[in-house]
Amino acid sequence: MVVRRLTRSVRAGPVVIGGSAPVSIQSMTSTYTYDIDATVAQINQLARAGADIVRVAVPERRDTEALRHILPQVAVPIVADVHFHFERAMEAVEAGVHKIRLNPGNIQDRQEVDRVIRACRERRIPIRVGVNEGGIVERRDKQQRAAEKAELRRDYHGRLIDIMVRKLEEYLLIFDENDFDDVVISAKSIDPTIVIDAYSEISRRFDYPLHLGVTHAGPKETGCIRSVVALGTLLANGIGDTVRISYASDPVLEVEDAKEMLCCLGLRARNEPELIACPTCGRIEIDLIRLVREVRGRLAGIRVPVKVAVMGCVVNGPGEAEGADVAVFAGRGKGIIYVQGEQTRTVSEAEMLEALYEESLKFAQRVERGEASLTRGGVTIAPPDPLPRADGSVPLPVVA
Ligand code: SF4
Repeated sequence: MVVRRLTRSVRAGPVVIGGSAPVSIQSMTSTYTYDIDATVAQINQLARAGADIVRVAVPERRDTEALRHILPQVAVPIVADVHFHFERAMEAVEAGVHKIRLNPGNIQDRQEVDRVIRACRERRIPIRVGVNEGGIVERRDKQQRAAEKAELRRDYHGRLIDIMVRKLEEYLLIFDENDFDDVVISAKSIDPTIVIDAYSEISRRFDYPLHLGVTHAGPKETGCIRSVVALGTLLANGIGDTVRISYASDPVLEVEDAKEMLCCLGLRARNEPELIACPTCGRIEIDLIRLVREVRGRLAGIRVPVKVAVMGCVVNGPGEAEGADVAVFAGRGKGIIYVQGEQTRTVSEAEMLEALYEESLKFAQRVERGEASLTRGGVTIAPPDPLPRADGSVPLPVVA
């Protein structure tokens, strides 16, 4: 069980970040924010997928103007992502956003930063302060920039974390001087090992809630590994209050993977079926990979966390599927379906998808009616008789 490190808490609209609040999932729209309809549609899509908070970029005035029309049409808190122009932060605050993401290092004037902080303080809007790898090296002071670059050349990993912590101290002082502590911290890097070490160090030094992320993680296929290695390690050690997985892909995939990561760590209750499947091997006699893909899609409408196992044979399948509420063990062109350890049906390969769906749905409905409870690992599945004989006959009775 993960024991979470206790942080302060802030509130982005109805969502609490930090303290004892559940780890929240964030994502970011990929639309132009000024395209109101497209942005509203994507925010709502992300919310349906499980996002608790959604961030939008506001590079131009027309983006902050669009916020007034977007906010009434969405049900999740919105974060305005501000870079360089403090005016965009002020306009976003005026429009009613629930949180601001700001890097004090890329806003020219300290007084401008103070104005944003004051505006957020008046409305109790939290600010995420990022000391992310991409924007951490000094931009304005040429001498300091050269010194930091030289530091990084000596020991990139170690010095980068030092610079991140140093900048964070510098930024937090600004917030402190403005009597503002509704702060969330991020320290993202493209390198998962830096992410793990940077957040671990920051978590030792500060008790502000942490927004975890790997920046520029790449396409989903590799970005998923990169992100889950870093974020999963931190979360398993109790570090992290809100997460964003970022892919060069449809942001809905970010939310789906973040949700799965949190469910796997026991940090979020599952509210939909959990699918386990064997990896297949030389014993396989059906197209299990296709079946698994289809089962995943077919189960998507069920809103009960039924554990469903799709196993390729009766040799190891029953042992590995123990604890599944509904399981199918495939053989040559056939499958035996179990519901909580009881054999219910033997079906042909062509019928397997629908039969598994029907049994899963029936079981989920019984759970909803209080007539059955989820297994949660307590069921032993006795191996079925061998499937089918060489002459094609089926030794098990087919249950209609
Ligand atoms: S369940 Fe059977 S087919 Fe699947 S990997 Fe295990 S032994 Fe192979």
